[in-house]
This record gives sequence, C-alpha cells and structure tokens, in this order.
Amino acid sequence: MIDAVTPAWFHPAQLAFKPRYEWAFGERIDHPETTARAESILAALRDSDRFAVEEPPPVPPGTLSAQHNGNLLALYRTASALPEGETFYPTVFPKRDQVQADPTRISHAGAFCFDAGTPLSSQTWEAARWSASCAWAAARALKKRRLPLTYALSRPPGHHATGKAFGGYCYLNNAAIAVSALLRGARVTVLDIDVHHGNGTQSLFYRNPRVQVVSIHEHPDACFPYFAGFPNETGAGAGSGTTLNVTEAAGCDGPRYMELLERQALPAIRAFAPDYLVLSAGLDTYALDPVGHFQLTTDDLREVGERIGRLGLPTVAVQEGGYHTEHLGRNAVALLDGLRTTLG
Ligand SMILES: [Zn+2]
Repeated sequence: MIDAVTPAWFHPAQLAFKPRYEWAFGERIDHPETTARAESILAALRDSDRFAVEEPPPVPPGTLSAQHNGNLLALYRTASALPEGETFYPTVFPKRDQVQADPTRISHAGAFCFDAGTPLSSQTWEAARWSASCAWAAARALKKRRLPLTYALSRPPGHHATGKAFGGYCYLNNAAIAVSALLRGARVTVLDIDVHHGNGTQSLFYRNPRVQVVSIHEHPDACFPYFAGFPNETGAGAGSGTTLNVTEAAGCDGPRYMELLERQALPAIRAFAPDYLVLSAGLDTYALDPVGHFQLTTDDLREVGERIGRLGLPTVAVQEGGYHTEHLGRNAVALLDGLRTTLG
C-alpha cells in the first residue's frame, strides 16, 4: 500500500497538437486521439488527493536518437515548418529498400510511416517530444528517488512507433525511452496492456536480452497493427525468449483477462526477474472503448493494477491508448489506484 502521493508528469504543450480526422478503411472518421483524452486524465488526477502533477524537463536529444533513426526525427522537424492549420496525411508508402527517402520533404513522409491514420502538423514534434519527456522524467524519478510508482501522462501515445517509422497515432516510443532511463546496470520488463500489440516496443528490444517485452492484446489477425504481435514472435539472437505475446479474441472480459495475466504474463515476468517494470498503460481494453473490442470494466482495470502491483517491482506507468474520453480519467485513476493498493 502506497501512502505517499504518486507523482505524475504532463506538459501543456502536449495539447497543442490536434489531429481532427483520420482515414480508416477508406472512410474519413473523427480522430480518436484527441486532446480531450489528456484533459480527462489530468482532471481525474487533480480531483484525487493521491497524485501530484509535475512538468517534465525536456528529454535530451541523445535519448531520442538512441531509440529513433535520425531521418525520422528530421522528418518531424520538417513537419514543424508546415503552415499553421495544415495537416499532412501520408498516403504513399514506398517499400523502404526501393527509395532514397528525403526527410526534408514532407511529401516523402510515407517512407517513414506505416498507416494513414497518423498525421503530421506543425505541432506534432513539440507534442510528441513533451510526451516522451514525461516518460523519461517519470522513469528517472522512479530510479533516482527510489519510488514504488510513477506515472507519465504521455499523449500522443508511443508503443506503435518503431526506430524508423511512426504510425498507430504514435511518433516517439515513450515506453522505450522510459526503459532507456532505467537500463544501466539493470534488467527491465515492459508489460503492455493496451488492447493493441505494441509493435514498436517489441521491435526496439527484440534482440535485447536485458529487456523483456510482454504484451496482452487482441489477436492481430483481426486487430491493428495486423502484421505483428503473434504468439510465435518470441525474440531473436541474444534476446531469444524475451518477447511474449499473449493474444485473445474480441470480447475478452474481466475474468478471462485475469486468467491471461495470472497464467501467462505475470509468471513470465517473475521468471525473468527484472529490476523495474515499465507498464504500457493502454486503457482501450475498456468495454465502451470505440477502438478496442475487449470488455473490461473500470473495476476490472483496478484489479489489473492490483495484480500487476503484486509483482512488487518499482513501476513506471506510461499512458498509451484509451479512447472513451469521458471515462478515460476515471479508468486511469482506477488502474493507478490498483497499483497503489499492492505496491509499496
Ligand atoms: Zn491501443
């Protein structure tokens, strides 16, 4: 049980980026990754006396370039020069070995992107950089202050972003940046409970024996990102055996989810025996979520937090998805309260 206030990180510049729509299966739909998401969580944190919101310092450029290719970061700076109010949606996705892509041309953005739902504007880089800064600051505080739990209100999310490409509403891999702040002299597990597979996080650590990546998600046969997150992906080289994908069909409810946690995910983490846990805290497993197809309730999310907290690992929770804006803050606090009940 944690009695002290849990620190949370957020920067107002994360609200400047406002994607309005996305192209999904040929349809133009309202973009689910809105600023209202962060505002809902922020309000819920501030309504509670158990959390204190701090502004992070900027993440060092070298920390970003350790995870992401220089051309990808250069493209984000190119997007920063887009005219105010203009948004670029990549629609041409060349095969990467067939092109010399120029990151100073916004028209080449598709070479660094894997879907049509993740736009660029003049505000994208600032928002993504501060989102990453939250994860970096939360991880550093966890280690330096020897805290049981910290929280990064990272928005835009990060777990789909790979070293070379953005997509899935993600630009910088916030969870990987948190790992990098913890990894010196330590072993780290990333547990990704977003309803979507964290393909970016998996790819960044696929060959790393010191970082375990465990993800519970809707089976990619029927769910984004479609091309990764299958159970036969288990790591490679020195990292063989350090990736675990736990998949379930649409409709997964609370009791079934607890089984997946207790029988597969948590035993694997205990066997790896890490020093720290980075929790990729997606909340789109919620029953009313417009994007995911699982059936968890707010009480289930609290119980998920309690069960993860029983690992007894210093934990940095990094916000990922979750698109039922009205209940998002309540669900984030429920998950964190669950962790606070059993950690400490
Ligand atoms: Zn998601």
